[in-house]
Amino acid sequence: MKTSVIGYPRIGGLRELKFASEKYFRKEITAAELEDTAKSIRLYNLDLQKKSGLDFIPSNDFSFYDGVLDTAFLLNAVPERYTELGLSELDTYFAAARGYQGEKGDVKALAMKKWYNTNYHYMVPEIGDSTEIKLVGTKPFVLFNEALENGVKTKPVVIGAYTFLKLARYTGSKKAEDFVDAAAAAYSELLGRFADLGAEWVQIDEPSLVKDMTAEDIALFLSLYEKILAGKNGVKVLLQTYFGDVRDCYNELCALAVDGIGLDLVEGKRTFELIRANGFPADKLLFAGVVNGKNIWRNNYAKTADIVSELLTGYTNDIVIGSSCSLLHVPCTLANETKLPNEIKKHFAYAEEKLTELAELKRILSPDKPAETEEYTRNAALHSGRRIEGNAAVREKVAALSEKDFVRLPAFAEREKIQHERFGLPLFPTTTIGSFPQTADVKSKRSAFRRGELSAADYEKFVEAKIAECVALQEEIGLDVLVHGEFERNDMVEYFGECLDGYIFTEKAWVQSYGTRCVKPPVVWGDISRAKPMTVRWSKYAQSLTDKPMKGMLTGPVTILNWSFPREDISLKESAFQIALAIREEVLDLEANGISIIQVDEAALREKLPLRKSDWHEDYLDWAIPAFRYVHSGVRPETQIHTHMCYSEFADIIKDIDDMDADVITFEASRSDLTILDVLKANDFRTEVGPGVYDIHSPRVPSKDEIKTAIGKMTERIPVSKIWVNPDCGLKTRGTEETVPSLKNLVAAAREARDENS
Ligand code: GLN
Ligand code: ZN
Repeated sequence: MKTSVIGYPRIGGLRELKFASEKYFRKEITAAELEDTAKSIRLYNLDLQKKSGLDFIPSNDFSFYDGVLDTAFLLNAVPERYTELGLSELDTYFAAARGYQGEKGDVKALAMKKWYNTNYHYMVPEIGDSTEIKLVGTKPFVLFNEALENGVKTKPVVIGAYTFLKLARYTGSKKAEDFVDAAAAAYSELLGRFADLGAEWVQIDEPSLVKDMTAEDIALFLSLYEKILAGKNGVKVLLQTYFGDVRDCYNELCALAVDGIGLDLVEGKRTFELIRANGFPADKLLFAGVVNGKNIWRNNYAKTADIVSELLTGYTNDIVIGSSCSLLHVPCTLANETKLPNEIKKHFAYAEEKLTELAELKRILSPDKPAETEEYTRNAALHSGRRIEGNAAVREKVAALSEKDFVRLPAFAEREKIQHERFGLPLFPTTTIGSFPQTADVKSKRSAFRRGELSAADYEKFVEAKIAECVALQEEIGLDVLVHGEFERNDMVEYFGECLDGYIFTEKAWVQSYGTRCVKPPVVWGDISRAKPMTVRWSKYAQSLTDKPMKGMLTGPVTILNWSFPREDISLKESAFQIALAIREEVLDLEANGISIIQVDEAALREKLPLRKSDWHEDYLDWAIPAFRYVHSGVRPETQIHTHMCYSEFADIIKDIDDMDADVITFEASRSDLTILDVLKANDFRTEVGPGVYDIHSPRVPSKDEIKTAIGKMTERIPVSKIWVNPDCGLKTRGTEETVPSLKNLVAAAREARDENS
C-alpha cells in the first residue's frame, strides 16, 4: 500500500507567500527575491512530505496566484490585452490575475469564480476564436526538475484538459469542442516531455467530472482523452477526481487507457456504490481519497480501515490511500497554534498532521501488521471518548422543531400591507447594506482593544461615537432606512462566533481564498447557543439617535456555517438549526428592544449549493431555507425582515430565495447589468427587492443619471411598490470620500424617480 496527496498548501505556514507577493506588488522586493521565497516554501513542503514517508509527492501544485491561471499560461490561452503590455512574464501573469494600471496600459483582471464547492476562487480563462492552444509554458517541468535536484522524484500535477475547457469563457463563436485537437496535442506533448524527464507518474486533475455531465460533455471528455493518452509515451497517468463522485462517467473512466484513477471517498457520496456496482478495473491502480482534504478533524482510523479493507478484499489488489482533494483547502500546521489547549488540538489535523495520518494509516493497514498498533488504539480512544459535553437543551429544541416553526404568520401579502402602513416609507425607499467605511481609526482602535491597550469602556465609547457620526451622516444624506455602520465588527462571521458558545477560534488556521489572500474560518466545536446578546446594544443606541427606522444587522445561520469548519459528528443540518436557534434569539431580542427592521445577511447561501443539481434540495436547500425561515418566523407582523445576498447568480434557485419568506431582499446586481431583473419578473418574485444600483467594489462614484437609469430598468419589470434603492453590498471597504457623493447621488436619483412615479 502506498500514500499520496493531491496537492499541498502553497502559501507557507505563516503566509510567507502572501507577504512576499504584497511586497513585490509595492515594489519593495525584486522578482528574484519573490522567487526565492516561493522556492523556499516549495522546498520546505517537499522536505516535509518526504520526511513523512509519503510515496506520491506532488509537484507543480505551487502557484503564484492560481492553478487555473497557470494552466492558461501553460497552454498559451492568455488574452492579448495582457501579453501586449510588454511586461515580464511574471508581471504579465500578475496583470491577468490582478489587473494592471501603469505606464504600459490599463487593463482589468480576468474574472474570478468560486472553485467548485470550496471557498477558493480561480481565474476564469478566456478563449477567443484566435486563441491557439499549444504547450508554451515550462513551469511544470521546471518544478519537477527542481524537486528532482533536491532528491525527490515527484508526481507532477496539472489541471486536466476537460476541466480547463469547461471552466473557460469563450469570447468568440468557437466552443470547447473546437479546441479538442489542439488541447489534446498540448497534453500529449506534456506527457511526452515528462516521460523524457524521467517522471514515472503524472497526475491530471479532472474535478469537472464530478459535476452533472450531459452526453455531449461525456463525448468531449472521451475525445480529449483518447487523443491525449495516445501520446503517453511510457509515463503513467493518474486521472484524479475530487469534490464528489463520478456517477455520470464511471464506466467510461474505467475504460480509459490511464494507469490510475483517483476517486473521492469522503465527499463522493456515491463513490463506493459505483465501485460496488461496477467493480474496479484490474489493470489500474486505485487512488482512494480517504483523508478529508477540506476539514480539520482527525481521521477515524477504524472507519478508514473498514473502507480500505472492503476495497482490498472485493475490488482491487492494490491501493494508494490519500487526501480526498488538494490539502490547499486546509491550514498548514498545528505547530503554529500556540494558544489552543492540547485537549482541543488533539482532535485536529491540518495539512502537516494529515501527512502523519497517512503514514500511520499505511502502517496500520499494511497486511503484515496487526491492526492494534499504538497509533490505532490512540485514534480509537480519541473517537470513542466524549469530545464535548453537549448542550441537551439545544439538542432538544432542534429535535422538537416542526413544520409550523418554519412558517411566519400572517402570510407575506398581509404583512406587506401592515408594514407599509407602519413605516409609511416613500416609493423607492433608500437604504444601505449595513457597513460604512472601516476607516483606519476603526481598525486601529479595535486592535488596540484586542491587545488590551484600550479598555472595554473606552473602546465602546469610541464605537458609539462612530455610530453617532454615521447616523448623522445618513440623516444629512437623506436615506430613509438607516444602519449603525457595523464598526464593532471585524467580519461577518467571527464577530458573531465570538458571541456564541460552541465556537472556537484558531490563531493561524489560514486557508487560501483567492490569489494569496486567505481566510481564517472559525471552528464549530460544540453545540451552539447564544452566550450573550450580540448586536442589541449597538442597534438600540443607534435607534435612540434617530426617528428614522434603524435596521438591526445580523449574519444568517447558513452563512455563518458555510464560512466555518463544520463538525463531522453531527449533520450540517443539525448545526445550521442550532445556529438558527441562536440567531432567532437575537432577532427577538432586537425586536423587544424597539428595532423594527432586522436584516439577516445570507451572503454565502449559494456557496455550498451542491455541485449536482439533483442534490440541491435533498442535500442542502431542504434544510438551508428552513434554517433561515426559523430565524424570523417568530417576529410580529409589523416587524420587517430584510436579507442580503452578494451575488446575482441565483437565477436557478430563485423560487427557493423567494421561499425564504423575507419581506425585503437586497443583492448585488450592478455588475451583472441588472440581468437578474428579468428572472424576477419571469418568476413573479414576491419579496420586495433592492437590486444594487451601483458597484461598491470600485472607488468610482456613480452619477445620479446612471442610478436613475438603473431604477428605470427596475420599474419596467417590478411593481414600483416593491422596489428599494441601495448600493449592491456593504461599504466597509470603501473610503468616505467616494461613499458620501455616491449615496447623495443615490438619494437624489430615488427622489426624482419618486416624483415621476407618483
Ligand atoms: N451587512 C454586511 C455589510 O454591509 C453584508 C456584507 C456582505 O454581504 N458580504 O458589510
Ligand atoms: Zn454583500
